[in-house]
Amino acid sequence: MKRCAKCSQKAVVYLPHHRIALCKEHYIEWFERRVERTIREFRMFSKEDRVLVAVSGGKDSLSLWHALHKLGYQADGLYINLGIGEYSKLSEEKAKKFAQGLGRTLHVIRLKDLVEDIPTLKEIEKRPACSVCGNLKRYYMNKSAKELGFSVIATGHNLDDESATLMGNVLSWNLGYLRRQYPVLKEGNGFVKKVKPLCLITEKESALYALLSGIDFVEEECPYSVGASSIEYKLLLSQIEERSPGTKLRFYLEFLRKVQPLLRREEKLELKPCSICGEPTSGDVCTVCRLKQRLTLSEKGQGS
Ligand code: SF4
Ligand code: ZN
Ligand code: ZN
Repeated sequence: MKRCAKCSQKAVVYLPHHRIALCKEHYIEWFERRVERTIREFRMFSKEDRVLVAVSGGKDSLSLWHALHKLGYQADGLYINLGIGEYSKLSEEKAKKFAQGLGRTLHVIRLKDLVEDIPTLKEIEKRPACSVCGNLKRYYMNKSAKELGFSVIATGHNLDDESATLMGNVLSWNLGYLRRQYPVLKEGNGFVKKVKPLCLITEKESALYALLSGIDFVEEECPYSVGASSIEYKLLLSQIEERSPGTKLRFYLEFLRKVQPLLRREEKLELKPCSICGEPTSGDVCTVCRLKQRLTLSEKGQGS
């Protein structure tokens, strides 16, 4: 039986890539310190900033919100109801219950009221649900943060998400995406600052933090996540990690240290306000306004 490296009590976890065993209390402390260090190292935000946590009801976003709150940050939540049947119903309930327990505000918006729900959009647009969904989530997160007066948006992306995305982007050498793959996206051009404080924490570590902290999160995954290539990459990376602990962290961190600075030097992103809604876009009209225009046209088409 392994003993906690801090207090010699029975350990509940052994973290192979950090070569450390910890008890419940010291694991929670380790996790929160790691979040705090990431926030500082990447200059994400300070205690003066109002942070809006993008909450899905899952372990990562709720662990993040919980840790930020405990660390003394001013963090409220934003839940976007995507209208994906039982999954959305359950995750909204969990998110609301969690916010109550924390004593912080959860802002809730519904895609159905703003554009249309994801299952309907998937049919109308004839593209994968995740491509429509990602677009809309980014748009409404940014818009809501500005309207509600938050200076930073924090998302629960963890090391598994980031290293899998990196793998996908490297396999196709997508330089545009690689350039933007950084745990901090600065404010400006109509964008609120976006940060990923869990980017150096694995999925297992965040699940364990949620369990040990008694967080009631939604365990079901979104039904549209099945078959996504990112899941394949996560599996592959986890297999390598098993044999060679620390691979995920090294892959991601070395990218940030060695490759990112070269890519960012060339960054030339020209954005202007959308002529309809004012959100930033590279064209005249942003993708969400174009989507809304297509929906109006198809409704008219159906009506005639
Ligand atoms: Fe949206 Fe796809 Fe994530 Fe589901 S899996 S919440 S559809 S991005
Ligand atoms: Zn201990
Ligand atoms: Zn627009």
